[in-house]
Amino acid sequence: MGSCYKSQQFPVSSEKELMEAFRIHQKDLVDYYGNDPYSGQLTKCGLKVCNISFKTSSEANDYISERTNKYGDAYAVKVGDFSKAYPQTKKEIDTFAKLKEVQKQIVDFDKDLVIRVKSSKSLFKGCTHCGSKVAVKFIQNTHCPVCNRELIKTQTDHKKITSLFQKENSLKEEIKAQKEKYKNVVAYWLVGGWAAE
Ligand SMILES: [Zn+2]
Repeated sequence: MGSCYKSQQFPVSSEKELMEAFRIHQKDLVDYYGNDPYSGQLTKCGLKVCNISFKTSSEANDYISERTNKYGDAYAVKVGDFSKAYPQTKKEIDTFAKLKEVQKQIVDFDKDLVIRVKSSKSLFKGCTHCGSKVAVKFIQNTHCPVCNRELIKTQTDHKKITSLFQKENSLKEEIKAQKEKYKNVVAYWLVGGWAAE
């Protein structure tokens, strides 16, 4: 059983956001390569964020590969100049914060609907698709446990979620345009480590 070095770039963010992005990345790797501990991917390791920056990714990869092994954590280091990275102006910071907020609302939307149903007085919720009477205490998500179609969302909810997705799209467009002037700025997290194979 050997090991291979893997590395991956992540956009500029706080350490906490990087940890979260890495966790999601690992989940995607498992979905793609499977749960095998010898997949040759960084699916199983933890992540240690190092407070050090490099000018180039090859310097960063040298640093990480010399200090990590297949039994330990992957390391994250900075490449480039984070102080020059998007967002810089007040408008950019506001737009970026708005996007984060809308994305949080999208993630929380279904969760909030389930909470709303569970805190209502009715003990049962009728499914308009299959006619089942679903006990509210068994409701886990917005879908009918019998036919798996939409159980909770009203037309107003559908309109709300659609408008959230529209907002997200237009903010993404705005951010894409704002980022144009940053195209020559080098700044990203580099996460690397040795994966068992
Ligand atoms: Zn149903």
